[in-house]
Amino acid sequence: MATDYYAVLGVQRDASQDEIKKAFRRLARELHPDVNPDPKTQERFKEINTAYEVLSDPQKKQVYDLGGDPASGAGGGAGGFGAGFGNFSDIMDAFFGTASQRGPRSRTRRGQDAMIRLDIELDEAAFGTTKDIQVDTAVVCGTCSGEGAAPGTSAQTCDMCRGRGEVSQVTRSFLGQVMTSRPCPQCQGFGTVVPTPCPECAGDGRVRSRRSLTVKIPAGVDNGTRIQLAGEGEVGPGGGPAGDLYVEIHENPHPTFQRRGDDLHCTVTIPMTAASLGTKVPLETLDGMEEIDIRPGTQSGQSVPLHERGITHLRGGGRGQLIVHVEVTTPTKLEPEQEELLRRLAKLRGEERPTGTFQPGQQGLFSRLKDAFNGR
Ligand SMILES: [Zn+2]
Ligand SMILES: [Zn+2]
Repeated sequence: MATDYYAVLGVQRDASQDEIKKAFRRLARELHPDVNPDPKTQERFKEINTAYEVLSDPQKKQVYDLGGDPASGAGGGAGGFGAGFGNFSDIMDAFFGTASQRGPRSRTRRGQDAMIRLDIELDEAAFGTTKDIQVDTAVVCGTCSGEGAAPGTSAQTCDMCRGRGEVSQVTRSFLGQVMTSRPCPQCQGFGTVVPTPCPECAGDGRVRSRRSLTVKIPAGVDNGTRIQLAGEGEVGPGGGPAGDLYVEIHENPHPTFQRRGDDLHCTVTIPMTAASLGTKVPLETLDGMEEIDIRPGTQSGQSVPLHERGITHLRGGGRGQLIVHVEVTTPTKLEPEQEELLRRLAKLRGEERPTGTFQPGQQGLFSRLKDAFNGR
C-alpha cells in the first residue's frame, strides 16, 4: 500500500498545482528542520518533501495517480523513469557516498539572524523597562506570498534536469566511464524555474520592511547583554522561516554613578572640617533622595556602602550596593582669622610639629583601591 501523498499534504485529489504548492510551502515552513529539529518532525518533513516531489512533477504525478509510486526505488509496478532513477541513484550513492541531499534543493531557506543595538539609561538597566524599537528586516513579499513568481504565474519544472535539480554527465577516465552529477546550471539545483519573477521582490520572495516592536528589557541587563527575540529576524529566501532578532544592550554613562558588576560607585568630596565633625550629605540615588551619613573622623578614601541601592541581579533576587567614596579636601586659602583658629587647634592637639609616620608604598592610593573592590 503506497503512501497517500494527497493526505500527507492535506489536499484534495483534484487539487491544482497551485494548491499543492501552497499546501507544501505552509507545511515546509512549519516543519523545517532549522525551525523544528525534533526527530519526529524531521521524519514528517521528509514525508511532505517526498509527497511534494511526486505531486509537483506532472509526469511523476501521473505515474502516482495510475497507482505507481515514483518515489520508491522499486517503482511500484508502474515502471518507467521513476524506478530507473531510484536504482541509478542508489548505485551512485554506493560509489560516491552522496546518500543525503538527493533531489532538488528547496527555494525556501531559513532567514538570517539580525542584530540591533539599543541604548538604555542606568536606571532602566537597574529596574527593567519596555522599549519600542524600529527594525528593518526582510519580510514575506505580500505580492507573491513568498513564491517569487509574478501574480498569475507559477514556477515551472526545469526542462533541463526535469525537476531533479541536478544533471548527470558521463566522462571517460582511466577507470573507464564515470558518471558524475552536478547541480543543474539552468535552475541552480532548484528543479524549477520562475519564468516571470514577481516584480515586487524580483523573485526573492521577500522584501525589506520597517516594523515596530516592543521589547521587554529585564532588570539587571548590562552593556553587551543580548536579548533574543525568536522569529523576529530576517525572513529567508523564498519566504522561508525568519531568523531570530538579537537586541544588544548599550548602557549610556551616568553623570554620577559608575557601574561595576551590579554595584554602583560614586565619589563625594567634603571639606576637612566636615570629615572631622561628621555630616549628612544629600544624594540623588536611583531610588530618590537619600542622606549619606558621614561619621565624625572619616578619612579621605573611606567609603560608605548603601545596601540594595545598586543594580538588580539579573538572575536571582536582590540588588547590588551603592558605594559612596569619600574624598576629603584640605583648605588652601586661609583668612587670617581661620589660620589663627587652625594654629590654636594644632596647639591644643599637640600637632604643631608632627613627626609623621612612614610606611612603604602608596598607602593612600592602595587603600582606596582596596575599598573600591571590597566595598569598604
Ligand atoms: Zn514577490
Ligand atoms: Zn534544472
